[in-house]
Amino acid sequence: MSDCIFCKIVAGEIPSSKVYEDDQVLAFLDLTQVTKGHTLVVPKAHYRNMLEMDGDSASSLFARVPKIARQLKNKLGAAGVNIINNNEEAAGQTVFHTHVHLLPRFDQNDGLKIDFVANEPDFPALAQLAQDLYLGE
Ligand code: 5GP
Ligand code: ZN
Repeated sequence: MSDCIFCKIVAGEIPSSKVYEDDQVLAFLDLTQVTKGHTLVVPKAHYRNMLEMDGDSASSLFARVPKIARQLKNKLGAAGVNIINNNEEAAGQTVFHTHVHLLPRFDQNDGLKIDFVANEPDFPALAQLAQDLYLGE
């Protein structure tokens, strides 16, 4: 896609700091480095985001994620890795070409804070919601 910044990176029209590349996928360092080694894994084909992908294209992308995440963790001596994917503006997506963030984690004060708001579980509401959402096979 001509006006997509990640397509331009894939095509080599914009430089990037490559961490991994094969025929399907490119991984490169995020400019922002929220934590050291913050990496983006992108499919070489353009998709707006994960919501636009089918199972095969998503499988091909995610199949590469474990080995790249392990490489970051091992080489940087990280204690863990957060794997994040934002879909649409409301979810924090700012670049509209599918990408998976790999964020090596060192400790609680390493620059990334993800908070899940703790609340009391409402079991009947959960059961109803699951029933409404149930997709089957
Ligand atoms: P999003 O907010 O869409 O999930 O993440 C987009 C990410 O792309 C941001 O973390 C941002 O720093 C990164 N980014 C935006 N433009 C460029 C660029 O030209 N090169 C690289 N390496 N990262 C970029
Ligand atoms: Zn693109």
